Amino acid sequence: MRGSDFESSISRVDEALYGLMRREQARQRHGLEMIASENFVPRAILEAQGSVLTNKYAEGYPHKKYYGGCEFVEEIEDLAIRRACELFGAEHANVQPHSGTTANMAVYFTVMKPQDTMLAMKLDQGGRLSHGHPLNFTGLIYNVVGYGVRRDTETIDYDEVMKLALEHRPKVIVAGASAYPRFIDFKAFREIADRVGAVLMVDMAHIAGLVAGGVHPNPVPHSDFVTTTTHKTLRGPRGAMVLCKSQYAKDLDRTVFPGVQGGPLVHVIAGKAACFHLAMRDDFKEYAAAVVKNAKVLAEALMERGFRLVSGGTDNHMVLVDLRSKGITGKEAEVLLDRVGIACNKNMIPFDPEKPMVTSGIRLGTAALTTRGLGEEEMRAIGEIIDLAIANRSDQAALEGLARRVEELSGRFPLYASMDEPWVESSPKE
Ligand SMILES: *Cc1c(COP(=O)(O)O)cnc(C)c1O
Repeated sequence: MRGSDFESSISRVDEALYGLMRREQARQRHGLEMIASENFVPRAILEAQGSVLTNKYAEGYPHKKYYGGCEFVEEIEDLAIRRACELFGAEHANVQPHSGTTANMAVYFTVMKPQDTMLAMKLDQGGRLSHGHPLNFTGLIYNVVGYGVRRDTETIDYDEVMKLALEHRPKVIVAGASAYPRFIDFKAFREIADRVGAVLMVDMAHIAGLVAGGVHPNPVPHSDFVTTTTHKTLRGPRGAMVLCKSQYAKDLDRTVFPGVQGGPLVHVIAGKAACFHLAMRDDFKEYAAAVVKNAKVLAEALMERGFRLVSGGTDNHMVLVDLRSKGITGKEAEVLLDRVGIACNKNMIPFDPEKPMVTSGIRLGTAALTTRGLGEEEMRAIGEIIDLAIANRSDQAALEGLARRVEELSGRFPLYASMDEPWVESSPKE
């Protein structure tokens, strides 16, 4: 069952849809994907998600399912659970959450009642919608207190976290971010949580692949709960999971189902099982190390060209660029870079004077390009292209030249061009 067989079925039954899928595939192939939360999954994961497993209802948990015919799909779920625990050193895993937001919701519902207090990173300083945004359910249901970064270092202000924890006595402290380029001190968070008797939840959505690959500290030993998506640096299917200490296992499972979800997506759980399997291999460790190395080289290239980076660099897969010295906003830069074929997103920088829809920064990530095989030389070239695009933003001919350079660059690193991606082929065990 090759991906191409499915594609040809779509072309036979639905030309309109097929045309759009082909255009999206071409967009992915010809551009440079630098949105920090994106990646390209191995074919094994595309196939798991496009398989007959999508036909099966499997409400409940392995060996306690509510439907017949679950003997194979519960083995698949067991496999995913065992591998998740092994990969991250966790006592318990729930692999059913459909998204990072539902994974977080499940933890909050497990340990908090409405109006309880939670302490999480402010959204405009790197936090996440499901960490307490006023329009998100968290902001509606809970009393959310936000911590931030220090003005001088732009790293998390652990003294402030402690002070706020002592003052507000939160039920839950959340560590983890969507736009934070530095390591997070999970031990410091544990100490603060213990001091006030709070539950510590770490949301490692962005960095899970780096943790799995051994290039980022692992939050699991320090946390009561760890939530993560599986589709970012972990390079798996679009979905999520929760890891926790065994004392919370029963309550957590009950909150995921029937609490906030119905039937699990078995085809996605199969994709998660494949993802965890692949993430345990040596070539994934090499991948994770290359992601970080590429981010550091990109950071250097940008700084050499006069860009200021939030916190002065990066420890992970992303760089946050402060564009103010270049006289361009994040919103303008996002549109401009898209025109030359570089996909990224505008992002608030700490203490940003601009509005959230404008911003003074962009966020760039290296997880997707590293999957395609781009290395340090290409990162330096991308730093140059970004600089030239911004410097020549009103010069149409210059921008066209840069767009051709991007297309030439991405053309050298084929995406699903054949069944034999180098980063899949390099693994003889498959
Ligand atoms: C991406 C992300 C999520 C999950 O988002 P979904 O889109 O709901 O899957 C959750 N937390 C953080 C910190 C994230 O970066």
